[in-house]
Amino acid sequence: MRRSFYFILIMKQEYAQIIVDISHENLDRTFAYRIPEKLAGRVAVGDRVLIPFGRSNRQISGFVLEITDSCPIDPRSVKDILEVTGDDLLVEQKLIMLAYWMKSRYGSTMNRSLATVLPVKKKVKAVEKREVVLALSDEEAALKLEEMKDKRMVARYRLLRELISEKAIDYRLVTGKLNISSATLKALCEQNIIKIDSKRVYRNTVNPLSRGEAVTLSAPQRAIADDFIREYGEGIRRTYLLHGITGSGKTEVYMEMIADVVSRGRSVIVLIPEISLTYQTVMRFYKRFGDRVSTLHSRLSDGERYDQFERARKHEIDIMIGPRSALFTPFDNLGLIVMDEEHEGSYKSDNMPRYHAREVAIKLAELHGASVVLGSATPSVESFKKAVDGVYKLYTLAERAKKADLPDVIVADLREELKSGNRSMFSQKLKSAIEERLARREQVMLFLNRRGIASFVSCRACGESVKCPHCDVSLSRHMNGKLKCHYCGYEQSDVKTCSKCGSKLIGAMGTGLGTQSVEQQIRSMFPYAEVLRMDADTTKQKGDYDSILSTFANREADILVGTQMIVKGHDFPYVTLVGILAADMSLNANDYRAGERTFQLLVQAAGRAGRDARKGEVIIQTYRPDHYAIKAAVTQDYEAFFEEEMMYRRLLSYPPAGHMLAIMIESGSENDAAEFAGSLAGALSGCIMGRAVLIGPTPASIRKLKDIYRHMIYVKSTDADMLRTVKDKAEEYHASCGSKVRISFDLDPMNGY
Ligand code: ADP
Ligand code: ZN
Ligand code: ZN
Repeated sequence: MRRSFYFILIMKQEYAQIIVDISHENLDRTFAYRIPEKLAGRVAVGDRVLIPFGRSNRQISGFVLEITDSCPIDPRSVKDILEVTGDDLLVEQKLIMLAYWMKSRYGSTMNRSLATVLPVKKKVKAVEKREVVLALSDEEAALKLEEMKDKRMVARYRLLRELISEKAIDYRLVTGKLNISSATLKALCEQNIIKIDSKRVYRNTVNPLSRGEAVTLSAPQRAIADDFIREYGEGIRRTYLLHGITGSGKTEVYMEMIADVVSRGRSVIVLIPEISLTYQTVMRFYKRFGDRVSTLHSRLSDGERYDQFERARKHEIDIMIGPRSALFTPFDNLGLIVMDEEHEGSYKSDNMPRYHAREVAIKLAELHGASVVLGSATPSVESFKKAVDGVYKLYTLAERAKKADLPDVIVADLREELKSGNRSMFSQKLKSAIEERLARREQVMLFLNRRGIASFVSCRACGESVKCPHCDVSLSRHMNGKLKCHYCGYEQSDVKTCSKCGSKLIGAMGTGLGTQSVEQQIRSMFPYAEVLRMDADTTKQKGDYDSILSTFANREADILVGTQMIVKGHDFPYVTLVGILAADMSLNANDYRAGERTFQLLVQAAGRAGRDARKGEVIIQTYRPDHYAIKAAVTQDYEAFFEEEMMYRRLLSYPPAGHMLAIMIESGSENDAAEFAGSLAGALSGCIMGRAVLIGPTPASIRKLKDIYRHMIYVKSTDADMLRTVKDKAEEYHASCGSKVRISFDLDPMNGY
């Protein structure tokens, strides 16, 4: 018996799917080749191989995308792979291996995975690189600056101030991040204040005087940087978690680590959530590292992105800063990946493959022999658990870098307010605290995690609410009377009669709690205050976001009302009060991460207060002052929160105590989706056999989104490998049914479905 089994193994023929040109358009064109006996066991995914190609059998090289044991075409017409070439892994090979890993980890097609990982190859029209240069002497510039300040020419003032320290700034940075119009630039040129230079002077774009003026690290910062540098020098590669309260100087520590890695001739990727990628942040890196730094953001065209990637490939830069897609920068000598705000939800992709940048970063680092530094004031429960378990090395910064005290955090119990007859959305405490700040000419930030006026329209006769025709959600009414879908952007005018029963008793219902209504109430309570609002509705145009922030930073407004957009790492020295209007809103989300997300939001929001010498105050309004997430946020006690949260996760075997696989089945036909979900659940429960818990099938919490119906199956187990087997089974079952429904997977989902 043994013998014949062995025989079969030898006889089993293996084939390789090969691409011959790595460019976006050609990903679909793979070719099957046989792995000849002499190469058996020597061909792996990502390998570069030599193959005979075309009629003439000219020898070309290609990359192995997949190895299969069945041949997709007539075996007689399949040619043999000639040789495996080169032991040295090219950067493309590493990216292909990464794509393969992502495909297997997240359940995607190889094509989708490759398209995510490999840059689009497109010829970009050579853009002329321009920069804005100061044309005045320092004395003249200083005089001009005063003049602009007196005349309240805010944009010009900001540009000139920046130019005085930098001398020259990239044109796109000026029109983009600094938000200065080309008309303004033209006027400044005509007045001979600035020049626009088309000659690109490398390394000189940043003023050498302002460069390298790194702060002197505090003792705790120094100890962390030194420890990392020592380990790096000893060749230790691992993942670190830097847990440092907001304003503790994590960025300075990253820069110290980066400087060391770069000095060893290796490149660095810095991941920052797109929303925190502000001019301030980017400038800090430019000042320290000059133009060996490049940034990516989602507004770049494919061509521009490719251009940035080419610069990385040619070693023209050492540091790439960007959101999660910056991971795929083709550095062939990657030495370090820094991931700031590692708890951020935006690190999880919501397209196939639904990858998490943290996991991909760690895998990529492994392929390159690089280290990873994760940083956050409020680490994800997963990461902190790994640090506690010793998988990651934990570094802690417990004090703010500047001598600012942490803000006082006060709770306003909304139940008490109700009892005393206050039905407004502002507690007495918050109202008088705002008054105080306005009197002192200090600034206030008010945070509410819901935009619009958050009321939906429903019929009082039959209860029917007005829903989006494309999604299973109620439309939200906005101030201008329009009804909007916050999921797909659908918009319609208000309705006067119920579409179901024809009744005219139809009107806005709901909490009345949204950023737009907060803004309105603030304006009527404090008519003399300047109020700004920042949410998805006020930041639609390119530059809106930066212009609201800079208006507020220039103290041209007293109060900034906004959604979580305002929470992200900005430094406003005059903000001494942060009000969190409805802390419970995110607690009520139907998701096991609700407590974690609430804690993170509250602590990050609180971190905005009193960043400078002035003492800050935070008022948290809540109906549930006893909830552990709120209590821990009040004392800013991460460990206390973590202990409670882990207890709850253990009790219900939620990640990271256990693991959960979410399977989503999508179809334009509700029936098809439901039917397939039912039969898949049946098939899976057979193979699980009590070693995991299967929940569902059930419609997703948003049953219909953009005209696609979504059904869910959840599988919970303490064994992640078991869940991977379940995922493979589900994929197999899906393929064998030839069903047209779409299936996708999410392991330990971040954002809930
Ligand atoms: P985090 O990234 O932890 O929020 P930052 O690195 O942004 O903190 O630092 C917060 C502020 O403190 C910044 O204005 C920074 O320039 C300043 N800062 C950080 N470290 C030091 C230091 N060692 N000495 C002086 N200022 C520092
Ligand atoms: Zn919709
Ligand atoms: Zn009705």
